[in-house]
Amino acid sequence: MRPRPVVAIDGPSGVGKTTVARGLARRLGMIYVDSGALYRSLAWLAAQDGVSWDDAEGLAALAGRHRFAFDREGRALVDGELAGKRIRTLRMSEGASTVAQHPMVRKALLTIQRDLGANGGVVLEGRDIGTVVFPDAEVKFFLAASPKVRALRRWKEMQAHGEQATLEQVERDQEARDRKDRGRSVAPLIKADDAVEISCDDMGPDEVVALMAARVEGCGATSA
Ligand code: C5P
Repeated sequence: MRPRPVVAIDGPSGVGKTTVARGLARRLGMIYVDSGALYRSLAWLAAQDGVSWDDAEGLAALAGRHRFAFDREGRALVDGELAGKRIRTLRMSEGASTVAQHPMVRKALLTIQRDLGANGGVVLEGRDIGTVVFPDAEVKFFLAASPKVRALRRWKEMQAHGEQATLEQVERDQEARDRKDRGRSVAPLIKADDAVEISCDDMGPDEVVALMAARVEGCGATSA
């Protein structure tokens, strides 16, 4: 038994997982882990080192040579340095979803995620948290929203970060990533049978966080 719960939040890109996972973690006094940042960081390291995003062995070896962590605010660190905006570009979105196809890469990053959540008191967000990383998570959510709403949300986020992209580009990128994430043979994006599905089209992040918090607290899972 873990002393505190693991909360798994899965869903497609642009659904608002990051905002609500961060908000929920803050509200419940838990650690926040953005698993997508691990895949993005690895794609970025590969681009720096000249390792192809198709080279599964090279990528797994690369993952083993670097240290991935998160600071208190849940920001991704690579070898102790903030990964920052450089992993948030459209190019790194594409890289992340390409490297994430390889079972060897997923295995290498799985250990890191399990270690981060081992003692509980953690909110993890991604694509396969409730199905593969923590199938025994105390509480699981699956977020859903229509493609249009998701693309617009992601585009606004990118604008706020000063990233140049048109809404059409974001929509195309999202569609391609969704297809890859849902269609891959290992750890595809799929709702866990015991996950609570939340449709976010007409709900703001605060509402979603409140709903999730009530659920976690209702499970009696927040007590130490
Ligand atoms: O969540 P984010 O959009 O940052 O993730 C980037 C990519 O990393 C996703 O499109 C997906 O291909 C991959 N990913 C994954 N499994 C996770 C988290 C992210 O395959 N748990």
